[in-house]
Amino acid sequence: MGLPSRADVVVIGAGQAGLSVAYYLQRLGVRPGTDLLVLDRGPRSGGAWQHRWDALRLGSAHRVHDLPGMRRLGLSFETADRARAAGDVVAEYYERYEQFYGLDVRRPVTVSAVYDREADLVVRTQAEELTARIVVNATGTWGAPFVPYYPGIDRFEGRQVHTATYVSAAQFAGQHVLVIGGGTSAIGFLLELEGVAARTLWVTRRPVDYLPQGELGPEAAISAVADQDAAARQGRALPSIVSGTGVPKTRRIAAAMERGVLDAVPPFARLEQHEAVWANGHRERVDAIIWATGFRPDIRHLSPLRLHEKAGGVTVSTGAAARDPRIFFAGYGPTASTIGANRAGRTLARQIFAALGGSGAIGPEPTGAEPTGATAVTAPEQPDHVADLVARFFTDA
Ligand code: FAD
Repeated sequence: MGLPSRADVVVIGAGQAGLSVAYYLQRLGVRPGTDLLVLDRGPRSGGAWQHRWDALRLGSAHRVHDLPGMRRLGLSFETADRARAAGDVVAEYYERYEQFYGLDVRRPVTVSAVYDREADLVVRTQAEELTARIVVNATGTWGAPFVPYYPGIDRFEGRQVHTATYVSAAQFAGQHVLVIGGGTSAIGFLLELEGVAARTLWVTRRPVDYLPQGELGPEAAISAVADQDAAARQGRALPSIVSGTGVPKTRRIAAAMERGVLDAVPPFARLEQHEAVWANGHRERVDAIIWATGFRPDIRHLSPLRLHEKAGGVTVSTGAAARDPRIFFAGYGPTASTIGANRAGRTLARQIFAALGGSGAIGPEPTGAEPTGATAVTAPEQPDHVADLVARFFTDA
């Protein structure tokens, strides 16, 4: 089915952030499918979660927060089977959520560019163009994996995968595997590869700062989210979350350290066809590299709007880009977690509704079996920055 030629609001991306914005907008009376269009390039529901590797179980992801209003469907990630693949559970629950609330997500639709046409914004997809008054960018980071440059990378002949393309440890059976990156994804891969790969070698740019208490304390959490927030407000590239906080030394990680599975070494000086070579001349055979080196915001399609600052990022304070008040960012910087995305949805919906000329507030989560559309009044705020960061912590971004 073709897309309408015009909508007041176009949301790009139907992950936690895009769905949350759509949900709250709908509650304010903005109608999905006519006033509001949600476009997503994924083949099915689930946002980035549909692409996560199979071994990432719901119980080994840190915590996936429920979407707003999800409990009305009788669904909660809290009570889901933690042994199931996280991607499957999230895809299934998001699909049921989209249907229940009639969010009318159009997929697969890839937005290749957003640009100005007088007062309007033009959203270009693979097949057509539509105009919008407001665009919400909720495209996450999964489509923009980051791989740092190392000399010789173009000569290396082994296999290379990134967190975004990792499938399973079985693909590396019997191989010498170099895992690069200092976050929890890297640690997860090393643990999965134990006993499967012939040898693993772990490279981190700096020594990993383990938090002995096994979980993130409020001080580190607040300061890391504050760093994200400050970077977004100042238009700088977003910092790595893990380098700001350290890695909680859980029992599983402590036991792996005891076994010698997590002995990190500093970066090599160059790669050759089948080896990594350190500055002191030490060489290691490498059959495959796993880049667990994080992601960047996936916002190339916004480049015609020239939102980037010289400092390397987009200036975003509470919702819209400083350079264009018609472009809102959900799930960006301090809200790049499932709980942060929920909060962004609520905040942005209010701002967008006001920008469209509407007035009113979002009411408390309705109860009962059927969605009620727009109702109004006040509501408790989502949990704060600490919970936000704790939720986000188990990423390697
Ligand atoms: P996404 O889920 O990435 O959704 C973005 C959507 O936009 C996708 O469906 C994509 O197809 C679509 N899209 C992108 N570009 C376009 C385009 N040009 N046109 C159309 N559609 C487009 N957070 C937690 O809170 N708890 C966790 O346990 C957790 N674990 C994580 C583990 C890993 C390995 C990683 C990488 C991240 C993890 N996160 C976790 C962070 C997590 O990704 C976010 O919390 C959240 O799911 C992101 O939601 P989102 O809606 O911003 O992005």
